[in-house]
Amino acid sequence: MTNSNYDIVIGLEIHAELNTKTKVFCGCQNKFGQEPNSNCCPVCVGMPGALPVLNKEALKLAIKAGLACDCKINDYAVFERKNYFYPDLSKAYQISQLVKPICIGGFIELESGKKIRLNRIHLEEDAGKLTHQLNDTHIDYNRGGVPLIECVTEPDISSADEALEFLQKLRNRFIFADIAHCKMEQGGMRCDVNLSIKPKGSTVFGTRTEMKNLNSFKSVAHAIEYEAKRQIEEIEKGNKIIQETRKWDDDSGISSSMRSKEDSQDYRYFPDPDLLTIEVEPSVVESIRSNMPLLQEQRIQIYSEEYNLPTSDINILVNSKLVSDYFDNAVKLLNEPKEIANWIITELLKQDVSEKMPISEQKFTQIINLSLTKKITRSNAKILLENIIQTNADVMETAKQLEMLGDISKEDIESIVINLISENEKAVADYEKTPDKVVQFFIGNVMKQTKGRANAAMARDIIIAKLQNK
Ligand code: ADP
Ligand code: MG
Ligand code: ZN
Repeated sequence: MTNSNYDIVIGLEIHAELNTKTKVFCGCQNKFGQEPNSNCCPVCVGMPGALPVLNKEALKLAIKAGLACDCKINDYAVFERKNYFYPDLSKAYQISQLVKPICIGGFIELESGKKIRLNRIHLEEDAGKLTHQLNDTHIDYNRGGVPLIECVTEPDISSADEALEFLQKLRNRFIFADIAHCKMEQGGMRCDVNLSIKPKGSTVFGTRTEMKNLNSFKSVAHAIEYEAKRQIEEIEKGNKIIQETRKWDDDSGISSSMRSKEDSQDYRYFPDPDLLTIEVEPSVVESIRSNMPLLQEQRIQIYSEEYNLPTSDINILVNSKLVSDYFDNAVKLLNEPKEIANWIITELLKQDVSEKMPISEQKFTQIINLSLTKKITRSNAKILLENIIQTNADVMETAKQLEMLGDISKEDIESIVINLISENEKAVADYEKTPDKVVQFFIGNVMKQTKGRANAAMARDIIIAKLQNK
């Protein structure tokens, strides 16, 4: 990257808010975008005497995160108090895990085959949110006590590109396994970057800095490039790197020293006397494992190997969990993956699908099936789909109302075909030479005369029978 005489060494610490209904140690809602300080109680703001009770759902999601990253799940885990004062933490300690985290080890493999090892994933609580304004700072404690997992990597990452690929893969696993929504713009996923440099090929690590406040993948990449360059310049000038925490400023594109780096001793961690040791039953881990939704990589494999979908379609489908889940559900209802993928990509993704799909899987596959079985024409099926998306009405009722269903009798089609044959001598004469074209011509005319209500497969059979008898 910046200078080929140096290796860059990066370790990431990623925080993700878990998809639970309530907070990790109290009954308050875990919900973004509420009126500030409307969603707090004595437990999550740390009033004296209030007692935390562990939310089992949060523990399950932390275990699930470990399983999604091939971690070992410890058979017990201990909550500890991490003591520090900051206005967003009214208790003056954060409940976290240090010596006995819930998950240890694990890895994520990059496309290159390189494995980025995880050191641990532990469960903790989020702090409140400070908003700095011109002359004052506002505090919202709604986020305090929201369940968080912290994933810590080993210092295995060597570039901004590798960091981004790792983050993208981690994020996709959490999203596809319903562990965390990871919306970075809502602070649902946050990342600290630890970075050092060393002479190329050296086995001795340099002194690292830690950068905080990285709110998007773009700022992670930007901050890595900036910090690597800064450290190399310092070393080249003969200066030493100071171990410190630095704050990244997205607007100016520079980082600045925030405080000298503290280590775990500074936090006076000790086991939280209010919380019991977590005992993890192997049967609980097994049940979480067996109910694990398919991860993005597994879906890509099925779509490619079982359904033979083209890579371009696969990429579109797995780009969103919502779309991918919808596709999977639709295929369960109607075993026509290629057809369903086409209809989703060409018809449904025209709509805004950021929050939800515009039509239920049942109605969607019902319409596709009407088209596949030639009960309605393909173009009518598209019109029907648009209509149901607007009205959410019953599919068969609407098809009937729009006079799309093939309710024209065999006899009616026969008499239309007889008429057409007598009126189109030239087409009949061309049948020997270009049979497909001529049959298509007659089908088109039958459809025109019946306003698309004839069963096209039936019309085809009748047309061919009549033409061959000529
Ligand atoms: P602390 O307890 O001080 O936070 P950790 O050992 O937990 O330190 O490491 C925090 C992060 O820093 C980890 O992601 C780790 O991989 C990374 N890290 C440790 N040493 C270095 C280094 N020399 N250069 C870059 N990253 C490092
Ligand atoms: Mg740490
Ligand atoms: Zn609360």
